[in-house]
Amino acid sequence: MNLPPITLTGHAQKEAWQNKVLPPVEKLGTDVWSIPVPFPGNPMRYTLCYLLLGEGEAILIDPGWESEMGFEHLAAGLRHAGLGITDLTGILVTHYHSDHLGLAARLRRASGAWVALGDQETPRLTASEDPDLFRLTHKEELLLWGVPAHRLVEVAFSDADLRHLQNLADPDLRLADGSYVPANGLALQVVTTPGHSAGHICLIDEHRRLIFSGDHVLPRISPHIALELPGPSNPLADYYDSLSRIAFEDEMEVCPAHEYRFIGMQRRVAQLKQHNSERSAEVMKVVDRHRPESVWDIARHLTWSRGWESLQNFSLRLAVSETASHVVYLRSQGYQIDVPLTAPSLSCQ
Ligand SMILES: [Zn+2]
Ligand SMILES: [Zn+2]
Repeated sequence: MNLPPITLTGHAQKEAWQNKVLPPVEKLGTDVWSIPVPFPGNPMRYTLCYLLLGEGEAILIDPGWESEMGFEHLAAGLRHAGLGITDLTGILVTHYHSDHLGLAARLRRASGAWVALGDQETPRLTASEDPDLFRLTHKEELLLWGVPAHRLVEVAFSDADLRHLQNLADPDLRLADGSYVPANGLALQVVTTPGHSAGHICLIDEHRRLIFSGDHVLPRISPHIALELPGPSNPLADYYDSLSRIAFEDEMEVCPAHEYRFIGMQRRVAQLKQHNSERSAEVMKVVDRHRPESVWDIARHLTWSRGWESLQNFSLRLAVSETASHVVYLRSQGYQIDVPLTAPSLSCQ
């Protein structure tokens, strides 16, 4: 079924996306800027960080991946608005992923700004936790999902991944659903949208009619919905609910954390729901046809944009954990899928 398309508004961003270059810093209206921050070595290429000015306030949304190059791009973007790093008063982060929260700790040290996350968000690995134990639990889960022993090192978290997770900033503020960001002169309302992460938030700027959607809704890519520890037991069910919550109207401009801006939240939500339900149907087809014995076995029979054989490392882990989230969701809908998912010792929540 062909659903109505969204309306592109980030023309320079889309052109840059297609040309595989960094988009420009853009002023989006009164006191709002879009500042791309490089995401080195990742196909997403950049995180779109947003700067909003209030009365004596300079707030960032999603400062991006921690790197020297990222820090310099962000500092240059702030200069466009006549600001320096030390002028920042708050750092809002839509969710606990390194390409969003990465630079927050460094920016907080340099400016004294607070760092805020949603009150439902769960860190994957805090600074005080034992990374070896985390790695062991994660490997147990992957083995249960049928990841072959010889691919385990590739699929599991690397030392660099764990270091990145442990260096992420602890938040100073936790924002509840429906609350307003504590910043003078700004009317930014929090909408809790779990699914892509346990406590992802979107932010609604009522005055400027903008929705900052983080990774919850992107214009082209369907956000990754993974079953992961620690985390909610049915992330895809949460994601469907969160899509309905954010599709309260269709006319505001959507400012995502990747790719490009657009108008048409309700249209995009309809497409994302359709995409995920088609994916679930494909999982059921594989189950009926191949009688798989593991999540891995299902994943390798699904279609992947560049082919199953091309999936490696991080993208292979995402493929397997996404398949697991479809299995959990389908079971919750009454479908029989007989593959091991969660051992009692690993049970979520
Ligand atoms: Zn993310
Ligand atoms: Zn992201």
